[in-house]
Amino acid sequence: MLQEIKDITIIGGGPAGLFALFYAGMREVSAQIVDALPEAGGQLTALYPEKYIFDVAGIPQVLAKDLVRSLVEQASRFQQPIHLTQRVVGLEQDGKEFVLVTDRDRFPTRSIIIAAGIGAFSPRRLPQRCAEPWYGRGIYDVVTDPEQFRDRRVLIIGGGDTAFDWGTQLLSRASRVTLVHRSDRFRAHGATVAEFQAAVNAGRAELYTFHELHDISCRNGGDRFSHVVLRDIKAKSTRELEVDVVLPMLGFVSNMGAIGEWGLTIQNDEIHVNSQMETGRPGIYAAGDVTTYPGKLKLIATGFGEAATAVNQAVHWIYPEKKIAPGHSSNMGLFGQKDD
Ligand SMILES: Cc1cc2nc3c(=O)[nH]c(=O)nc-3n(C[C@H](O)[C@H](O)[C@H](O)COP(=O)(O)OP(=O)(O)OC[C@H]3O[C@@H](n4cnc5c(N)ncnc54)[C@H](O)[C@@H]3O)c2cc1C
Repeated sequence: MLQEIKDITIIGGGPAGLFALFYAGMREVSAQIVDALPEAGGQLTALYPEKYIFDVAGIPQVLAKDLVRSLVEQASRFQQPIHLTQRVVGLEQDGKEFVLVTDRDRFPTRSIIIAAGIGAFSPRRLPQRCAEPWYGRGIYDVVTDPEQFRDRRVLIIGGGDTAFDWGTQLLSRASRVTLVHRSDRFRAHGATVAEFQAAVNAGRAELYTFHELHDISCRNGGDRFSHVVLRDIKAKSTRELEVDVVLPMLGFVSNMGAIGEWGLTIQNDEIHVNSQMETGRPGIYAAGDVTTYPGKLKLIATGFGEAATAVNQAVHWIYPEKKIAPGHSSNMGLFGQKDD
């Protein structure tokens, strides 16, 4: 489907992209976000919705999911669209106008801000073929609402931060939490591992190292599994567990995909930009984790500043009569304020 032309199309609805969407509205240009994921928020929503963030200026402490909610609310003031489950797969250019092509639609646009973070990412799937039919019916590789696992017997597979974070956070909700990992070395933060280990010692959780998923079965004839078989990879023995939910937390596979073919200077999946957030291709800017330059810090706070710079530059590039400097929001008639 051919969408309506916008001044700015932002690839990515993480914190940098969401703030860019608000900022474009404040600069009174039309804009939209296109994101591959089913929910806005980028890494905050997909990787750590229940973790607190402490280093966003002016907010002493905020849950990642709540920061996303606030960013979406701030951007929604200007009623610009966020198109989800749309992975950008191509770019066409006719004169000064672009068309961003996704796997579903075509988005004509006068400029582009790439806020694609670590690229379009998807959870790494369990390699065992027995798992495949149960995805979405008991196997979930992204947790958006931990309440859905209240009073369930949960098996988490993995040894990294996400596995142990969910392991500890589900202790108070799930009826049983079991964590399975192929080795006894964990990539997770030591404090979280210690917290989970303490729960194991207290009989509130189970931890199986040197184990992997061997089989999944349904004994009650329903459309959900009831048992998993774990294999001890050292002893070569198996054990059976009653389980309602399996959460594979095996990390994410991400890639820049089509963006890597647009003639931008890209190294290690990062786009080189100058201090104006220009990518070197006129009309295409970048902001957030996807960018690199001397002194770059991959932080939410930096992404916000880069998003503002990218939008202001794009606005001036499309409409040279509009200044780069935005003025102060505290003086803007747009917000019902008086210029003083
Ligand atoms: C566990 C963890 C904890 C963290 N804690 C903090 C913290 O405390 N403080 C802090 O400042 N930072 C923290 N970070 C880092 C922070 O999350 C990132 O710096 C931030 O998310 C970058 O925002 P972004 O908008 O640039 O990119 P992202 O959040 O990565 O969002 C990019 C978006 O672009 C989309 N996208 C990519 N390619 C395409 C495509 N081809 N088509 C369509 N959509 C696409 C993706 O789907 C994604 O939604 C943490 C990161 C992790 C993993």
